[in-house]
Amino acid sequence: MDKLDHWVSGASLAPSTDDYLPVTDPATGTTARHIAVGDERDVDVAVASAAAAVEAWRQIPALMKGRLFAELARAMRTEAAELAALEISETGKPQALALGEIENSATYFDFYGGLMGMPSGDTLDVAPDQHVYTRREPFGVIGVITPWNVPINQAARACAPALAAGNTVVVKPSESTSSSTVRLAQLASEVGFPPGVFNVVLGTGQSAGAALVTHPTVAKVAFTGSVQTGRVIGKIAAERIIPVTLELGGKSANIIFADADLDTAVDGAVKAFTANAGQVCSAGTRLLVHRSIQDEVVGKLVDRTARVRVGDEMGPLITRDQFHRVQEFFKIAESEGAHAATGGTVAATANETGGFYVDPTVYTGVDNSSRLAQEEIFGPVVVVIPFDTDDEAVTLANDSDYGLVAGVWTRDVSRALTVSDRLRAGQVFVNTWSTGSVQTPFGGWKNSGYGREKGVEALHHYSQVKCVTVKLDTPGD
Ligand code: NAD
Repeated sequence: MDKLDHWVSGASLAPSTDDYLPVTDPATGTTARHIAVGDERDVDVAVASAAAAVEAWRQIPALMKGRLFAELARAMRTEAAELAALEISETGKPQALALGEIENSATYFDFYGGLMGMPSGDTLDVAPDQHVYTRREPFGVIGVITPWNVPINQAARACAPALAAGNTVVVKPSESTSSSTVRLAQLASEVGFPPGVFNVVLGTGQSAGAALVTHPTVAKVAFTGSVQTGRVIGKIAAERIIPVTLELGGKSANIIFADADLDTAVDGAVKAFTANAGQVCSAGTRLLVHRSIQDEVVGKLVDRTARVRVGDEMGPLITRDQFHRVQEFFKIAESEGAHAATGGTVAATANETGGFYVDPTVYTGVDNSSRLAQEEIFGPVVVVIPFDTDDEAVTLANDSDYGLVAGVWTRDVSRALTVSDRLRAGQVFVNTWSTGSVQTPFGGWKNSGYGREKGVEALHHYSQVKCVTVKLDTPGD
């Protein structure tokens, strides 16, 4: 059985604890490999290595660093099948999805490699005898903590802009899905990133994650995960007075107006809650439908959902805990009197394979104040809620503790724009549903977090402004 160690200073590092944790393949319920259980001693070594590498990284000219990013993206594409296999062994996701994730992850390095050195700052016209300019400077060592749903993508999404802004990184991936992140860091070393620039420490949140957030040399934390853990990390960051980006959960509303192209809208709505078996923070899990088209939409939704092939098109829940949690929500739905128009059960595939599969599920008869409509399930479950007016649709959409994403389906451009303006969410999709592109800033309002990943905005979140004022000698002085 494989044993996976930390990757620190361009080499494998065994855990000080001598302890290894089993990782489960969710497609079969069997053990895929064992990973190192790091603690504060390993974090200390990794952070020291990252701190020592800051100057070496800074000395490499921006365009040369851009070339390293291009080399890393190329290496990821060359090794896409192997990287996807690692990802599949710990997430069970279909190969096409895993390959798409590797491609997207490589694109982060293309994009930020191309932006290397940009944006760099402004000159300010303050007075004739002053030359005033701003520079964007790195923080130093960034601690990156990622969840299990799209592991290599989450690591690339944070590390590419963090490194491009001039920082070095120590990543603590989820203990359930560590291997693709370690391979990413190894590839970075293989293409020429200096030792210590890209480090990975494995282990649990309590052992390695907490030690990373509290380490005095870590100058910023980028966290993607649950609200519960985000709160803990946010408090520590406040105590330490360091910035933190919190990319947390969602319960995103997807609104279908009566004038929408219903086939396209339903197709988008099904993808929005079944992609990655619903284990996407930006999943569209509250489907708000104009009452006049509710029956037609539910009929189409059930037909389209029935065509989602569990196993080869939609993978399992990624952890055993999550498998049980989603089943808990099936019971909650029953107790709240919701009607399962389709699904609401463990999938037949689970019994055949021992994997953690559930059927994609559509609930009707749901009140927006119920637990089913308010709590993030993180599984392939959507609730359908009717509305009568545009105002009511906006009110229902905004009646959530979360504010990550929203969708609007209508042929009326004025309605699309006015409704989009009123939605309290970090991103709105009109007549489409996607996770956006690497270029589109991504992040939450309300309990979905703060700070932004992706796009040029992420570079701003991984750097800080310095303003330099130079008094000039002017003629006559
Ligand atoms: P989680 O909060 O349990 O764990 C996330 C990471 O934090 C893991 O690496 C874990 O080991 C670590 N961790 C746990 N406790 C810690 C502590 N005390 N200190 C430091 N690190 C700690 O989340 P999860 O269950 O892995 O992921 C699912 C959640 O992530 C969902 O709520 C989902 O919405 C969210 N998510 C958000 C985004 C986004 O971009 N907004 C993307 C993906 C997932």
